[in-house]
Order: sequence, then structure tokens, then C-alpha cells
Amino acid sequence: MLNHRNIVIVFTLIFILLISLNYSYTFHWMLYLIPLVAFFSIEFYGAYFVNSGFHIEAICEVNTNENSVALSFDDGPMPIRTEKVLTVLKKFNAKATFFLIGNRIKGNESLLLKMDNEGHLMGNHSFSHSFFFDLMSSKQLISDLQYGNNEIQRVIGKTPLFFRPPYGVTTPGLAKACRHLKFDVIGWNVRSLDTSIKNKEQLLQRVKQRIKPGSIILFHDTVDGIDLVLEDVLNYLKEKNYTVIPLDKLIQKNAYS
Ligand SMILES: [Zn+2]
Repeated sequence: MLNHRNIVIVFTLIFILLISLNYSYTFHWMLYLIPLVAFFSIEFYGAYFVNSGFHIEAICEVNTNENSVALSFDDGPMPIRTEKVLTVLKKFNAKATFFLIGNRIKGNESLLLKMDNEGHLMGNHSFSHSFFFDLMSSKQLISDLQYGNNEIQRVIGKTPLFFRPPYGVTTPGLAKACRHLKFDVIGWNVRSLDTSIKNKEQLLQRVKQRIKPGSIILFHDTVDGIDLVLEDVLNYLKEKNYTVIPLDKLIQKNAYS
């Protein structure tokens, strides 16, 4: 299985072999470079693709024959934009999961209460969402994630068990922090790329092409106009006989401890 532990074992053995053979044969230095580059390429792939399960086993989709999908929104809460998303969800009676940035919660408590009252779930998306998140030690990560949980708990009185890594990047330190906090790591298999694709039709096309039974769809409620995209996606799902169900029902896990 391709994961961090196995890769470290395999490459350590390769280097031990090379070093011991070096006593009998003289190798060109390039021979050491090849496994080194291969090692870092695999590590990079594992860190940047959450669905690789390289550092942490992440739930990115569910195997099901039922036409069910779950919606998720990252990076909120954000006044006005999150509210517009909530209005569209209510219109379609669709429940979503919001992966919240802890430091955006203060001052937006009423939005969280509204989400909770309307049957949506909340997950942890870190407190800081720092650009240097992945460079933090596991101790710093635990405290950042704990702050995020505390903020959500302070407002809705429930402690999240679902966590989505900022930027989808995972590391051995983050894996340790997630185990410590007993998080279920949630990825996606439909990434809308709504923060970079500005053309609505292109965005819709991308999402529609990727949706299948058991999909976890990723949007950002911080993107201007995402409510309009959401409305079209929900109409499409209805047309294709898909049911939007809450993430905890789709993956059959508890959202809160
Ligand atoms: Zn994010």
C-alpha cells in the first residue's frame, strides 16, 4: 500500500543497499540522486493529494448504489455570502456541511446558529488556515485545531469530529494531530475549483461531469456568486434524481462527539 510509512521503509532499504554495495562497487553519485528524487516526488504527491490516503486515511467518497451525494463548503463563515448559500440550501431543503475557519467565527455567531438550526453540519477547517499550516509541529497543529473546535463548541455547544485539512495538504504531523483529536478526515471527489474558475458555465460543467453516487462535493462559501452556481447544481441533481443527504448520513459517522 502506498503510504508514508511504507515509502520510508522501502527507500531506507534502497539506501542501505546502495551504501553497502558501495564497498564493493563504486557508483556514480547520480545513482543516489535517482531514489532521492523519486522519494521526494512520492512524498509531494502524498502530501498534496488528500485522496491518496498517503499520510491520513481521508473519506473522499462513498461506495453506494443509491443516488446520494453530500455537499460541503470550506473557509466560512462569511457574512452575506454564507447567508446567500443558506438561502439556496433552504429553498431545495438540502443539508450541507460547513468546514469553518475558527478565527472567522467571532462576530459571526448568529450565522453558525442559523446553520445549526437549519440542520446543517459544521466541521473543523483549522483555526488559522495559515499559509504555513503544514510547517507547524504536531503540537502547534493540535493547539490550532483545538482552538477551532473550541470556537464551534462555544457557539453551538457541540464539538466537531469532522476535519478538512486546509488546502487539502496532509503531513505526518497533521496525521498525528488528527489521531489525537479523534478526527475523521474528510476529503472530496468533486473539487469545483470555484476559487480559481471564474466562468460559471465552465465551473458547472466541471462539477456535473464529476458527480456520481456517493460523491462529496467541495465548494467555498467565500466565493462571490457561489449561491448561483449552487442553485444550478441543485437543479441538475434534482433533474438526475440525486438526493442531497447530510455528510454524517452519507459516510455513516457522527459529526460531533
Ligand atoms: Zn480552506
